[in-house]
Amino acid sequence: MLQKPTKNMLYITEKEVLTLLNWDEIFKAIEIALKSVTKKRVIQNPRSLTQIPETQNILFSMPGFIGNNAEINALACKLVTSFPENTKKGLPSILANILLFNQETGQLQAVIDATEITSWRTAAASAVATKYLTMNKPKKEILAILGSGIQAKIHILAFQHFFKFKKVKIWGRTQKNVEKLIQELGLNEIELVSDPKSCVENADVVITTTYAKEPILKFEWLKSGYHICAVGAGSNPMEIDLETYQNAHVYVDHLSGAKEELKHLLEKGVVFKNEIGALIEKIEPYPVNQQNTVFQSLGMAVEDCVVAQLIYSKFINKNN
Ligand code: NDP
Repeated sequence: MLQKPTKNMLYITEKEVLTLLNWDEIFKAIEIALKSVTKKRVIQNPRSLTQIPETQNILFSMPGFIGNNAEINALACKLVTSFPENTKKGLPSILANILLFNQETGQLQAVIDATEITSWRTAAASAVATKYLTMNKPKKEILAILGSGIQAKIHILAFQHFFKFKKVKIWGRTQKNVEKLIQELGLNEIELVSDPKSCVENADVVITTTYAKEPILKFEWLKSGYHICAVGAGSNPMEIDLETYQNAHVYVDHLSGAKEELKHLLEKGVVFKNEIGALIEKIEPYPVNQQNTVFQSLGMAVEDCVVAQLIYSKFINKNN
């Protein structure tokens, strides 16, 4: 149902957003966002962070602009809360809204419920990174997922859509939550694993999607030529151990943000080799078969900008 809180502004609900999301379109939009970062066609300052004292609860504000001959133009700001204890209340731990502005006039065009957008664009960024970082690794048979929350679920859906792994192994801290997720997904290829070591052993690709503050993944468990998408590690000091970073080429979505937000890794000697956009643009060669790789995902305002613009355009087309 189209709601119009003011004369010119749309409110696009989560229900509407869900009808408009499509993996192949989101993948293309995120690819554009990632390469536009490298081509300097975006403005995105480090996100501002309002941490509520004595909790892990945070309000982030993420303004962004993409234009300057990029394939998608957008001006938007995402406001997102991260309240890890929300799951106990039956709510997502990440809740978000995007304000999309007219680039000519600065008028607010739409407020878009972005909780689903945040999940989808994060999984799409991991999929884009995995496509380019594993280009020379033809064998992608076993996927391992650490965590059983929203990001775990959406990454399984995205990675099975794009890569069709023969087996998906999943470990989570709370077994009943893993069982619930497996039941929801209803995929034959999924296997519940009781410890993180057995989960990641022999995996071609590992995705970490937790709030863990201590390493849940150790280098010694991984096979040679591993590829990891560290999704939950952005705001956490050490979801994966230092050796796993140090023995890999580590790529990020945006270097300027990584240098700002991941100082704790830089201080420990972790080197960020390049942006994923440099691989898409062929500025940087694809890693060779036996090269260990990590995609350290931070999440970017311009990812939200491109997806918001896409959803807005589809919404207008659908309702006119
Ligand atoms: P959920 O709350 O849905 O799931 C969190 C998962 O982490 C659960 O499986 C939970 O286990 C597990 N977990 C929490 N604490 C620990 C711990 N100490 N050790 C092991 N497992 C733990 O969150 P989301 O899936 O939405 O988010 C997951 C991560 O992804 C977060 O770190 C979040 O900040 C990050 N994120 C990153 C984005 C990016 O762009 N890079 C975008 C969005 C989110 P249990 O079932 O036992 O509670």
